[in-house]
Amino acid sequence: MKKRYFSLGLAAMLALAGCGSSQNSTGTPLYKAGSYTGTGAGKNGDVQVTVEFTDDAIKSVTIGDNSETEAIAKPAFDQIPQEIVDAQSTQVDVISGATLTSNAIIAAVNDCIVQAGGTVPTAAAEKTTAAKEEKSEATDVLVIGGGMAGMSAALAAKDAGADVTLLEAAGDLGGTVKVAGGYLICVDSELYKDSGADQSLASMEKAWKDHMSYSGADSGYPDWDRLDLVLSKTGETIDWLAEKGVRWDEAPFTAFDGGTYVCAHDVDNGPGLVSDLADALDTAGVKVELNTKATELTTSEDGAVTGAVSETKDAVITYSAKAVILATGGYANDPELLAKYAPKLAAVKTVSGAAATATGDGFRMAEKVGADFFEDGTGFGSLWATQVEPSALEKDRDLAGVDVSKALLVDGSGKRFAAEVPTVPYMDALASDMIQNGNGPFYFVFDSKDADAAAILEAGTDLNAVKSGETVEDLAAAIGVDKTVLSDTILHYNDLCKAGEDTDYGKAAEYLSPLETGPYYALEYVPTTFGSTGGVKTDDQQHVLKADGSPIKGLYAAGEMSNRYFYNENYMLGGSLGLYSTCGRIAGTTAAAE
Ligand SMILES: Cc1cc2nc3c(=O)[nH]c(=O)nc-3n(C[C@H](O)[C@H](O)[C@H](O)COP(=O)(O)OP(=O)(O)OC[C@H]3O[C@@H](n4cnc5c(N)ncnc54)[C@H](O)[C@@H]3O)c2cc1C
Repeated sequence: MKKRYFSLGLAAMLALAGCGSSQNSTGTPLYKAGSYTGTGAGKNGDVQVTVEFTDDAIKSVTIGDNSETEAIAKPAFDQIPQEIVDAQSTQVDVISGATLTSNAIIAAVNDCIVQAGGTVPTAAAEKTTAAKEEKSEATDVLVIGGGMAGMSAALAAKDAGADVTLLEAAGDLGGTVKVAGGYLICVDSELYKDSGADQSLASMEKAWKDHMSYSGADSGYPDWDRLDLVLSKTGETIDWLAEKGVRWDEAPFTAFDGGTYVCAHDVDNGPGLVSDLADALDTAGVKVELNTKATELTTSEDGAVTGAVSETKDAVITYSAKAVILATGGYANDPELLAKYAPKLAAVKTVSGAAATATGDGFRMAEKVGADFFEDGTGFGSLWATQVEPSALEKDRDLAGVDVSKALLVDGSGKRFAAEVPTVPYMDALASDMIQNGNGPFYFVFDSKDADAAAILEAGTDLNAVKSGETVEDLAAAIGVDKTVLSDTILHYNDLCKAGEDTDYGKAAEYLSPLETGPYYALEYVPTTFGSTGGVKTDDQQHVLKADGSPIKGLYAAGEMSNRYFYNENYMLGGSLGLYSTCGRIAGTTAAAE
């Protein structure tokens, strides 16, 4: 669905009055006055922009048709047009977290400038040598990162009476929560106490154990003591968030895994949760600084953390603080840290759903002040519709209707390596199996006995998301695997199907269906990662620890900054936000008190 946003160039007249550089000293018009429409390539396709020019100025920039994801693109749509008008130039800073959309708008305006006979500004021509202004600020508790953990930490610290400042690198709050479903696991809340749903810790723990049993059961994770400690407080967190104004669904959500665990859910999903929490921060009087990226922590001679240095477009601001809480999320979008902490994930083609700002900034800051890290991270993944290329997400959604439960999954060598049933726990585990297997690309193989599915797959061949072959050998050639290996895999799988028992991987009999009717199709599947695991080691109160186990004075962490305790290689849908909000709440309360 195409969306349309409007952004008016309200400051155009001011800019005209104040910006001498837009006037042409020779008297020749800078532009052919009029309205021009251009396009730039965004994250999900072209972004159309209309620019109105006078003879010597960019008067307004209006965003037109586009397919960008609203929750992510909004700060770019809200801010970049105005900045271009204010600067009378496209040499403006992109918005962190919405870089692709920012660049699309800039490219589209440049397109319009060319159409209007103007000169596209270049960095070299506009390079300013002016140093950024240096400023100092003071606060009691400085929270770095405005996702679930950071917003919760800031609210808790404020509740405890501290003066709180929250720095957010992106143009708006929310981080990955902006795209999240908004489900928070919930144990023993008051909210749902009369609902009849089983909110007990025992039931949640049983569901968690079940999910963690699929792969990596011997990895030593989760840390059950730590997990139980945090899980047992998630209901309190839900009630506390309700007091702060979060609008939970009236009934608990129990559909993830056949009702084995309970979640609270914001009535407007992840974006609703962000706006509820943003309102709560505002009401509480937390000072929120957007477009402000923390770059390093400051320390005293004895190694205690005393604040942080941050940068905005035109200033370097050093904050002194009694306590600093790192809540910058994970490293899912940072190739260097992925290779270091989650090499198996780095080696496989995945689609990251995490916020673009999940680049491990907090990891780098914490490392420099001596924090101890989990060395064995992993990305938590899930199979999520049909995904081939991130850029093809929208069009490949047409293929999401294909039921893969009766298909055969093979790796890049044409071999089967896991049971394929896409039930909720197994959707997570199957992604984990793919990452652990490492031998991508991964294909679901279908035959044509289900005519409806075959028709969808046939259409998918036009999108290049599906490969086909009249025979198994043809299909092997199309996907570039050895034809004998693929045909042996299929013959063996068919034998298991006919015997009615998957003695290799335990796929339930109801999903066993032999592949015998050509043409054959192979649908590439790419695991989606929801975030990363690993981070700094923390104690129960969320103090960041050194290698000797002692706390770094003044430093706390929560969220994906410190979450290895909770998972092995598997994820559990809805299994982050409730934990991270609780850890943020603990960090905020402790930081304010110490
Ligand atoms: C599609 C999708 C759906 C999901 N749905 C759910 C769900 O329903 N339930 C659930 O439990 N989990 C869900 N998750 C996972 C969950 O959203 C994340 O694990 C969670 O948001 C991480 O929280 P966080 O606070 O640690 O980090 P984030 O939410 O990533 O927030 C970190 C913040 O720090 C900011 N930041 C980074 N660097 C700096 C810096 N240098 N200076 C200042 N700020 C900085 C970032 O911009 C960001 O705003 C989902 C994930 C995805 C991708």
